Amino acid sequence: MTSLRRRFRRYVCQTSPHPIGLEIDRASGSYLYTTDGKAYLDFISGIGVANIGHTNRAVVKAVKTQAERYLHVMVYGEYIQSPQVELATRLAQCLPKNLSQVYFTNSGTEANEGALKLAKKWTGRKRLISFEGSFHGDTHGACSVTGREIYRKPFEPLLPGVAFLPFNDLDALKQIDDSVAAVITEPIQGEGGMRIPDDRFLPALRARCTEAGALLIFDEVQTGFGRTGKLFAMEHSETVPDILTVAKSMGGGMPLGAFISSPAIMKSLSVDPPLSHVTTFGGHPVCCAAGLASLNFIVENDLPGRAKMMGEKLQAALRKLGRECDAIRAVRGKGLMIGLELASPEQTARFVQRCLKAGLILGWTLHTNTVVRIAPPLTLSEKDLREGLRIIEKALKK
Ligand code: PLP
Repeated sequence: MTSLRRRFRRYVCQTSPHPIGLEIDRASGSYLYTTDGKAYLDFISGIGVANIGHTNRAVVKAVKTQAERYLHVMVYGEYIQSPQVELATRLAQCLPKNLSQVYFTNSGTEANEGALKLAKKWTGRKRLISFEGSFHGDTHGACSVTGREIYRKPFEPLLPGVAFLPFNDLDALKQIDDSVAAVITEPIQGEGGMRIPDDRFLPALRARCTEAGALLIFDEVQTGFGRTGKLFAMEHSETVPDILTVAKSMGGGMPLGAFISSPAIMKSLSVDPPLSHVTTFGGHPVCCAAGLASLNFIVENDLPGRAKMMGEKLQAALRKLGRECDAIRAVRGKGLMIGLELASPEQTARFVQRCLKAGLILGWTLHTNTVVRIAPPLTLSEKDLREGLRIIEKALKK
């Protein structure tokens, strides 16, 4: 054990008994390089962050330039800081008309916290609805609306007044009534096992929320910024929420998230009382500069289009493999957000270990330990796609 590894185990809090434990030297594009000289192809983008590849040059340049100008100068929303204003403007240009005002956060869970509080404040209602199999983050509020009991149970009591409906069930939507402040959902469930709802589900959910006067929150923390073959996954169903939450890949590798809504709804955070939702570091100028460089890179290089094209190739190859190999139970996904379902948790763990040994990083989704997450950088080259597939095939056929 190197001294660094020993101190990692001793001084850095771990959240699983067996951390992956790669000792990182550097990262570039689709690869991580470890201190023992090995290269690892990253097919989970660490997790769902490196849409534009690791250590993207445009982002590094933007970070350096902003770091030379100023770092943190004031708590959120008081001073005019060009990186925040430029990024918020650019985001608004990329989104439907009503999603035009941005509140920056440090993470996805904080974005969801803000969205839930905003919905309660705007509607004056108390109940929240979420879906079974969802994941929305690990702070108390976000955990309260996460649809998997084993992750909620140890932390109860959580928020009162939360109900969980079955995902993708049109009948269940009747339970959304005029006591509900907000309904939160991922357009495609990530940690729930890459579950894509039927085409009618999100439009029906939108219609029911409008009828009931409940705000609809789309959590695009994982699906956003090109991952599913569109800039935002909601575009697949042409359904627009009242509040959108984003994070993960938004900062191009820097910590950044946001909840986004209309000026009319957002206004409720600045009155009765003023400062009813503030943050010190949310929208850090260096992270916003990185976020702007990342968004421009995604749009200028049509990474959503690339995700669609590479995702179709990858899914087709995995389906072909599925016909030759009993271990594969299902392949599903959109763009480069793909789930590979295997027969058992043991087989899944063994498969992921074999891939890691061969230099390919994969993992299973949080709620579904038989679904392997395949979510490489959207910049993945054809050569690296073939290399990833070669390793996957070998590990499955062993
Ligand atoms: N929402 C979704 C859909 C996520 O997948 C995640 C993280 O995996 C979160 C929220 C939480 O984001 P963060 O880890 O940035 O707090």
